[in-house]
Amino acid sequence: MTERLLEHIDRLIQQRPVYKEILESYRDLVNLMEDVEPKHQDTKFEGGLEDMKRKEGFPVFSREDLPINFETSSEVLTKFLDHLSNSQREDKDGLKKALQKSKTEPEWPIKLFKAILRQDKKTQSRIGKEVDLDPKVLLFLAKVALRPSLSALYDAVSPRIDKKEWDYGYCPLCGSQPDIAYFDKPGKRYLHCELCKEEWPYPRLKCPFCQNEDHETLGYFQADKEEGFRVDFCKKCLRYLKTVDQRVFEDAAPMELENLATIHLDILANEHGFK
Ligand SMILES: [Zn+2]
Ligand SMILES: [Zn+2]
Repeated sequence: MTERLLEHIDRLIQQRPVYKEILESYRDLVNLMEDVEPKHQDTKFEGGLEDMKRKEGFPVFSREDLPINFETSSEVLTKFLDHLSNSQREDKDGLKKALQKSKTEPEWPIKLFKAILRQDKKTQSRIGKEVDLDPKVLLFLAKVALRPSLSALYDAVSPRIDKKEWDYGYCPLCGSQPDIAYFDKPGKRYLHCELCKEEWPYPRLKCPFCQNEDHETLGYFQADKEEGFRVDFCKKCLRYLKTVDQRVFEDAAPMELENLATIHLDILANEHGFK
């Protein structure tokens, strides 16, 4: 799995050199997570009742109740901070402070993970400022550190979810919103969860954020001369979603990488007034 991901990263670095720095940093993080196996994780997933709940639009878990092994995630975050604080990054002093905190106060990273899960931006920001780090940097690292645990959960639960029956704009596994979408080879649209990497089909002409289906207020734009990518937007709720058209690519990268290597589209969408 890791090997395949690394291959995609290397290929993307060749194809989109402007993203070299970001992708190389991400490759370091992927390498640091290579041998991480989350310790015992209880998925508390019972078929029947969950099926009934899903029919009513309840995801299997809510973000706050995800059975995540915080101990594993804390160890991973400490590894990241250790690695990055020894680099030449401008924010290495903040990274050192964060490393110190995570080593001496085991509750500190857990507070951060919980703030991420309950989408408590204020606490995330406060925790970042406590160690003189850009909260966005800390948030990114902590979200990646949750990955081994979320991946194990995804592997255990996702195959048991009937995604064809799920027609909501949020994730059937964890209830989060999508961060990117794609069209598969036959042209069907799938949304990708911003937290647990789950993917589920969704109508092409419908806003996942406000369920708007009015063709007049839904649209998309593309970056100049860039085939295979577009930004779908909704003029009703002013949200946008990047979309990768896999019909254009021979070997499409996993959505987590596409999301990282298309930041120019986020900037464009923001400039157009979408959030
Ligand atoms: Zn999810
Ligand atoms: Zn909308």
